[in-house]
Amino acid sequence: MKEIKNNLNTNIYYIIVWAIIAIIIGGLFIDNPRLSDFGWSFIFQLVLAFSLSMFLLLYPKKETDIFRISIIVLASIYFYSLFLFYPDTGSNFILLCFIPALSILFFNSKLFYFTLCINGGLILFLFGYITFMNQKPQYSYLEQDLIGNVLNFIASQIIIYFIFYLTNGRMKKQQLYYEQIQQSERLKTSGQLAAAVAHEIRNPLTVVKGFLQLYEKDNSFSTNQKRNFTLMIDELNMAEQVISQFLTMAKPEQEKLTELVDVKGVLQSVTDLLHSYGLLHDNRIELKVTEDCTISANVIELKQLLINIIKNAIEASNYGDLVIVTAEREKDYVVMKVIDHGKGMSDAEVASLGTPFYSLKSKGTGLGLMICFNIVEKYNGKIEFKSSKNHGTTATIRFPYYDRTKLFR
Ligand code: ADP
Ligand code: MG
Repeated sequence: MKEIKNNLNTNIYYIIVWAIIAIIIGGLFIDNPRLSDFGWSFIFQLVLAFSLSMFLLLYPKKETDIFRISIIVLASIYFYSLFLFYPDTGSNFILLCFIPALSILFFNSKLFYFTLCINGGLILFLFGYITFMNQKPQYSYLEQDLIGNVLNFIASQIIIYFIFYLTNGRMKKQQLYYEQIQQSERLKTSGQLAAAVAHEIRNPLTVVKGFLQLYEKDNSFSTNQKRNFTLMIDELNMAEQVISQFLTMAKPEQEKLTELVDVKGVLQSVTDLLHSYGLLHDNRIELKVTEDCTISANVIELKQLLINIIKNAIEASNYGDLVIVTAEREKDYVVMKVIDHGKGMSDAEVASLGTPFYSLKSKGTGLGLMICFNIVEKYNGKIEFKSSKNHGTTATIRFPYYDRTKLFR
């Protein structure tokens, strides 16, 4: 019941608690047959009422299990004392039926089941007491239809259980949802922070790299020193690559407008771009797109996705191998495939894909596929890798097909 902390809820809670206290005081002092003799039963009730009121009033400040249990126990004793001290007031029996409902307020399942069981036992004991201890005349309203009253009591407990079951389930789901939102907010904030830091790191890196490149060409340095400079530059290049990949992922959402994209055009430009990269190891890229493949996505993200996958395929390929890129429609999806006949992956390696910084390449960042997985998920697509060690890999990407004719209907 942590929500009591919320201001509006606190006010409502206190209004309800004061109303309950007013009813208790009213019950004790207005037309109470036990008030005149001021006997032990009245004093007992007075003490109970006072303690219960105090616990209820202090609860928002101390939301502990001890307070919860004390409130339930005190309220139960109070209700049972009402039933026993005022046998003429038939409606007191209804209060007994409601005792487990009190613990629903605290959304504590253990407390609820505990109250439900104890209340069941106490009611059994009470009916036994009335039946066998000659109390029937006092509780004539119960005695007239004992079975009916027992059944009503059982029915009320089942209804209360049902209410608890439904509300508790809903509360748990809501709590889970709330925790997920909090988690993603935290991730978003740390992502933005990390992006800011990454951005700040890039500038000094560029300066250091610039100087190293100058020193690398400076003949006053020995060959050994120059080799070290080259190594340093390589490492800085690597760091720059990680940072720029990271920054593209952390770009604000508004920069990523979704539009209708012709997959064929995008694939054409991506394969053209990677053509010379493939030629480094004599790998050619073959593109096969036949049908109209329109999807709804952001072009830059789609290109980023395809570049990463095709680059991986080229990097895995053996000298002179062909990389095949296809796109076709399959029911409601546009299916793109990037097929290579390179070194392939084991099942364990496939399972690790998309994990941040997972890379088997000496100069890999291990961020490419993580970004791809994020992009695909964002557009309700699917990505799947089928691979066989030393035989090659097929990466299959599915995006929901966007029917252009819908625009003109
Ligand atoms: P990087 O390319 O920087 O290593 P990626 O996230 O793009 O990072 O890929 C992670 C790893 O997955 C690669 O290092 C590689 O081992 C493996 N991988 C990805 N695509 C393929 C492929 N087509 N064939 C074989 N291995 C691949
Ligand atoms: Mg890669």
